[in-house]
Amino acid sequence: SHELRVKAISQVTDRVPLPPKVPARLEAIWASDVFTLSKMQACLPKDVFKSLQSTVKTGGKLDVSVAGVVAAAMKDWAISKGALYYAHVFYPLTNATAEKHDGFISVQSDGSVISEFTGKVLVQGEPDGSSFPNGGLRATNAARGYTAWDVTSPAYVMETDNGVTLCIPTVFVSWTGEALDKKTPLLRSIAAMNKAATRALKLLGYTEVAPVNSSCGAEQEYFLVDAHFAHNRPDLLLTGRTLFGKPAAKGQQFDDHYFGAIPERVQVFMQDVEEKLYRLGIPAKTRHNEVAPGQFEIAPFFEAANVASDHQQLIMTILKTTAKKHGFMCLLHEKPFAGVNGSGKHVNWSVGNPTQGNLLDPGDTPHKNLQFLLFCGAVIRGVHTYGSLLRAVVATASNDHRLGANEAPPAIISVYLGTQLEEVFEQIAKGEVKDSTHGGMMDLGVDTLPIFAKDPGDRNRTSPFAFTGNRFEFRAVGSGQSVSGPLVAMNTILADSLSWVSDQLEAELAKGTELSAAVFTVLKEVMDKHSAVIFGGDGYSEEWHRMAVEERGLPNLRTTADALPVLKDKAIEDLFEKVGVLTPVELESRFDVYAEQYIQSIEVEAKLVVTMAKTIIYPAAVRYLTDLATSISAISGIGLTLEKDTAEKVAALIQSMMDNVSKLSTAMSQHDFESVEAHMQYCSQTIRPLMDKVREYADALEGEVADDLWPMPTYQEMLFVK
Ligand code: ADP
Ligand code: MG
Repeated sequence: SHELRVKAISQVTDRVPLPPKVPARLEAIWASDVFTLSKMQACLPKDVFKSLQSTVKTGGKLDVSVAGVVAAAMKDWAISKGALYYAHVFYPLTNATAEKHDGFISVQSDGSVISEFTGKVLVQGEPDGSSFPNGGLRATNAARGYTAWDVTSPAYVMETDNGVTLCIPTVFVSWTGEALDKKTPLLRSIAAMNKAATRALKLLGYTEVAPVNSSCGAEQEYFLVDAHFAHNRPDLLLTGRTLFGKPAAKGQQFDDHYFGAIPERVQVFMQDVEEKLYRLGIPAKTRHNEVAPGQFEIAPFFEAANVASDHQQLIMTILKTTAKKHGFMCLLHEKPFAGVNGSGKHVNWSVGNPTQGNLLDPGDTPHKNLQFLLFCGAVIRGVHTYGSLLRAVVATASNDHRLGANEAPPAIISVYLGTQLEEVFEQIAKGEVKDSTHGGMMDLGVDTLPIFAKDPGDRNRTSPFAFTGNRFEFRAVGSGQSVSGPLVAMNTILADSLSWVSDQLEAELAKGTELSAAVFTVLKEVMDKHSAVIFGGDGYSEEWHRMAVEERGLPNLRTTADALPVLKDKAIEDLFEKVGVLTPVELESRFDVYAEQYIQSIEVEAKLVVTMAKTIIYPAAVRYLTDLATSISAISGIGLTLEKDTAEKVAALIQSMMDNVSKLSTAMSQHDFESVEAHMQYCSQTIRPLMDKVREYADALEGEVADDLWPMPTYQEMLFVK
């Protein structure tokens, strides 16, 4: 109500930031809540530690015989940190993190209790996961799923108001081994990429090749809104975004927030978040204000993809829980507010190993350039061949508001290389990078290649997939999404491309071609077939949208309804099966789950649009109309028509809003669809436009109705009152 709104404003105005803590010394708290390898080394027998360490390095299964000893040490450490419970943490097909808590308590036959934590429960758990989405996977196999410790991701303790819990990162699979989660495919994709990369490196002549891993550094954008405001907005509470709200007179046009001084309350919040992250061994590095008012960013230093992904989930959780403590609501939704920028998650990704280093780093020696060009070429081929998959893995109802809205990359997936690198690949395409007079290609070809600037100044913010010096940055990922799906897609297409590249290279070498000449021949073929995906211009322009589709044949999958069915393409099914990341059944289950999530989130929003329009906005508007009617009759003698004009305008807006509410309600009663695809299209083509219509009239009413009657916190208040 309006009273609550006024109360919220005064409460927010009176707020004082939580007292800032004296920042702890980084070295003193770093990873203090993590059961790190070095802690294990200190407390485990030598042979046990060795066995565990080799498992971590190779990503294999933990030897059961050592599990008991590891479990006992882990339990003692956790209890010393105050833990009474342990939890297998897993990552279901939602974007959330799930955990099942169990006590260390074990009741003995004489009724006494002891703390117990066996190797078996460390290695394997059996959560009753029957209510997690599985796309029919478990119905066809067995009722239950089980969790298994991913030894490559360390255990840690989490302190909440309810106490301290030992958390064990796990995979979540069915009894028949089908992946029910987001971690299992990620681990498989890393293994597949490692295999393919190792083969390519061996062909390049390396004899010593350490396991190749992928790295990820994800920049997380988010909004903070005062909890007093958020709690008066049913839309923020239920859907994470405002379904109504007239943009404030001022938006982000002055750029006065971007990189500006961080407000004190937010600064205290950020410090609190960072301290928690440091304790968990999460290397938070960058923080700043973002483009929109009330929008911020946090970016950790990059880590191995698998650990980075677990850490990213923790970052999202900690942002949300810590925000609550500081009187904020943290919004991870991709588009919480119309009219100002939305939030994304830039996923920086590369591959490398200890022996050859970062394989997407051009380095400054010709020899390394060769290896870099081959891997970069493989990425180009992969993105061109499977661009629609990259689009599909970022397809959610909420991200649809962002992609293609000229503030985030378009839904067309292209690769940005930067002028310098683009030139090199153009030379390769023309076959110019060769001259045998100087003793073979290796010499001259590579000599002419420039030394790459590490951080090129010509960054292109409109590209969905950009090379940024020594990595690619996938910018179409949604702020609320798990980074696993995008990482799985990137690793998988790279694995496939590297296999293709190796096949070609092997064939060339078999003909007796010298190595660098063979590499350039393969790269030329990549360019002949796939250069259409390379684009360095303005990704927002209409010209590009036309050219991409008409001249270059790139798909433009505008909505989730268009993009998700890609997961059912035969080519995508073959890709995942061939590379060994998802079986056809597992892939299909993902389509089913994500399609369902899309439909449900739009249906929830639509229901709420109807309810809010009817029970909150309509009554306020009618009250205003009644006020107007009263004053019209009171001043009728004066002969003014102004109030009458306003009343007519308001009445017309109310009528239009309610007409569209009826249309929306009717549209929502449709339940017969010939396929899930048809249902998704219906949500996208019919339900969503009607929601927008209702909003259009409601927002117009917000511009007419007396402010002292308006029932909900406004954009101005939510974004600017601090
Ligand atoms: P910007 O906002 O300019 O894109 P940031 O510094 O905010 O850059 O974020 C860049 C991210 O990229 C950081 O998380 C950083 O650790 C990460 N990064 C740097 N090198 C690599 C790499 N080789 N692999 C993966 N991520 C990387
Ligand atoms: Mg970035």
